[in-house]
Amino acid sequence: MKATTEVMTFSDLGLNEILLRALEREGYTTPTPVQSQAIPALLQGRDLLGVAQTGTGKTAAFALPILHRLLADKRRPAPNTARALILAPTRELAAQIADSFRSYGHFFRPSVGVIVGGVSHRPQNEMLARGLDVLVATPGRLLDHLGSGRLKLGTTEVLVLDEADHMLDLGFIVPIRQIVAKLPKQRQTLLFSATMPREISALADDMLRDPTKVSVTPAATTAERVSLNDREISRAIVFTRTKRGADRVAQHLESAGVGADAIHGNKSQSQRLRALDGFRKGRTRVLVATDIAARGIDVDGVTHVVNFELPEVAEAYVHRIGRTARAGATGQAISLCDNGERPLLRAIEKLTRQTLEFTDRRADGARQDDGDSARPAPKRPNSPSPHRNGAQYPRREGQRPAAKRPGAAFNGQKRPANGGARHKQANRPQV
Ligand code: AMP
Repeated sequence: MKATTEVMTFSDLGLNEILLRALEREGYTTPTPVQSQAIPALLQGRDLLGVAQTGTGKTAAFALPILHRLLADKRRPAPNTARALILAPTRELAAQIADSFRSYGHFFRPSVGVIVGGVSHRPQNEMLARGLDVLVATPGRLLDHLGSGRLKLGTTEVLVLDEADHMLDLGFIVPIRQIVAKLPKQRQTLLFSATMPREISALADDMLRDPTKVSVTPAATTAERVSLNDREISRAIVFTRTKRGADRVAQHLESAGVGADAIHGNKSQSQRLRALDGFRKGRTRVLVATDIAARGIDVDGVTHVVNFELPEVAEAYVHRIGRTARAGATGQAISLCDNGERPLLRAIEKLTRQTLEFTDRRADGARQDDGDSARPAPKRPNSPSPHRNGAQYPRREGQRPAAKRPGAAFNGQKRPANGGARHKQANRPQV
């Protein structure tokens, strides 16, 4: 009997041959779950509500059907229009999405443009004047161009809203509604979000028509791929709550001999791109980032995600750990947690339906275990969860946060044998 439910290859999904060649060139052999669920419906012209975070392959899930549409109907875009519009919350994500379109469109070279703030208007004006097949934009600058009449969306065929919950965090909901109002009612609309706060479901209800719903549960999927046996920290992202904290952690790592760079909202666009490029190319081993700066960063091979502080909002944890164990790879998530953060930890465990694996570390810096923080940690009593995706390092109340010194955390991981000794250095600056 022939199995008809299981889709195994990209050609089974019905994608154009020219795209299949590009995917082969990219080394993609099998569609990820979000791709095999979304692509057939999108090829039929359906709207889509996708609950998926970065790392699931969601970019290709929307880019491939859009490119397929362009190939099926090779009209040249009229000046000052875009056939497909993708809205992204950050400049970095917008640039990455555009790169994905260029890669997947390698064999037919669609015109792909990026409109983001922080750079001069003139090249953007010229690009828009020519008209684009695919326009990837952040909302603020896009509204400028709509206001000045340099861009008209009245003929746009497809709209994608990527990382909608992050757009909400950044206050983009009103701009998004203003942009959507300029698009024709007759269009295909896709909305992707890692989480579904109330405001986003309301936006989805208003924007989408009878959408196909695709949900790839990020926490469980990620947890299953995260392994505590991987001791090598070759590419790590450390998350801090504040921009200042990110700078300090990066400085301390640098002075401890660990190549690090910080990325956050106070850095210029060129500094951010340089930091990202260094990290991507392996010149910098550790990228220290705030949540907002890191959202949507697409770098392969991130072996570790370290939560220097737990995020205030549990959903952010899911986004953070989604930076590792991407597209089938394995990775490790480590969270440093003090007593004051226990409510945050409980919220994360509730949201992810996991109990995080737990390693204790005494406040004077000495370990209760053998000093090897990378080894599978002792179980926390009464921890029933089958999924483990990281270790928690609580410290005693009122004590110095030994575990939060970046040198300690990283050297402990890097050189397990002398990790304990390093933690005893009392004069390590606090962050
Ligand atoms: P995304 O969730 O779109 O940010 O994609 C995460 C990463 O997975 C990107 O680096 C993609 O290049 C990669 N990727 C996406 N789809 C596949 C696939 N089917 N096979 C292998 N890698 C993929």
